[in-house]
Amino acid sequence: MADFTFPPVVYLVIPCYNEEAVLPETVRQLTLQMESLQKNGLAAPQSRMLLVDDGSRDQTWKLISDFCRENPWVCGLKLAHNRGHQNALLAGLMEARLHADCAISLDADLQDDIGVLRDFLQKYREGCDVVYGVRNSRKKDTFFKRTTAQGFYRMMKLLGVDVVYNHADYRLMSRRALDALSEYKEVNLFLRGIVPLIGYRSDYVFYERHERFAGESKYPLKKMLSFALDGITSFSVKPLKIISNLGILLSLCSVAGLLYALISHFVGYTVAGWTAIVCSIWLLGGIQLLCIGVVGGYVGKIYTEVKARPRFRIEEKQGSLLPLPSPEPQKESDTHP
Ligand code: UDP
Ligand code: MG
Repeated sequence: MADFTFPPVVYLVIPCYNEEAVLPETVRQLTLQMESLQKNGLAAPQSRMLLVDDGSRDQTWKLISDFCRENPWVCGLKLAHNRGHQNALLAGLMEARLHADCAISLDADLQDDIGVLRDFLQKYREGCDVVYGVRNSRKKDTFFKRTTAQGFYRMMKLLGVDVVYNHADYRLMSRRALDALSEYKEVNLFLRGIVPLIGYRSDYVFYERHERFAGESKYPLKKMLSFALDGITSFSVKPLKIISNLGILLSLCSVAGLLYALISHFVGYTVAGWTAIVCSIWLLGGIQLLCIGVVGGYVGKIYTEVKARPRFRIEEKQGSLLPLPSPEPQKESDTHP
């Protein structure tokens, strides 16, 4: 159980991929927030914002290094390659786990309303291990994004996957929850699916999602679709069951078709059925290919899971990633001067 006598050490974990346009403003606004949280006794002075550079190709890391020198609230982590949002987030959370009482993950583009950070910490104070940030509405989204997102959540529910409706990755996790998260070793990461599996006490904070402050979205349609598909195939084997059921249904239909063909034959109705043959070849060929494709998706996953490659590699650390005071003697960290 967490100790609530002192304000908690809070790490804000922010994955950044080519975010040079927005970072200065993000850091400016978050610094004000951190100061206010500390003043109100909600966050300890050792709290930090941990900026994770996900192998950016622009000036993001240079900016982060500069912030680390000038701003005591900032520390940075640089991944050697672009590993995607989920992996960058995990890298940050696993680092935060070593230093903080709780971590709050948020995007670098100020879309998540940072005004509700205090609400997250209030819920943490009340004893929650996980606090989900949930969007009030999707009014600001395009019609396309809104409908596809809603369709995705409905489909996940139908497939029996426990995800929080309209929750992205704006969430607080206590150290205990982060420890639990570290035990999930999967390579195809879908944090929104994993965190509810942890099962500790959780609550929600509702917020309005803004427009991106600057720069452009790093989630084009292709990435978004593959993320959604990843979410489904990483958490549900129902598609496999649907295929089996489809197979049974088709087999029954073909038995009926066979009976019909035999009866027609004996009654003497048989006409050279070119159309029927060509149609069935195309239809069955298509269905078979689709099924093989879905099964192949799972085989691909087994393949990547079995290889168990490291999910990220930290190239460099910056700023004061201070270890928490602990009753046991601490090993000297190799990152501190
Ligand atoms: N991001 C990342 N690696 C990537 C893509 C995105 O770390 O390969 C970060 C990005 O910098 C941002 C967050 O993930 O902080 C969410 O991305 P974005 O805002 O572009 O997504 P959207 O809000 O448009 O869905
Ligand atoms: Mg965004």
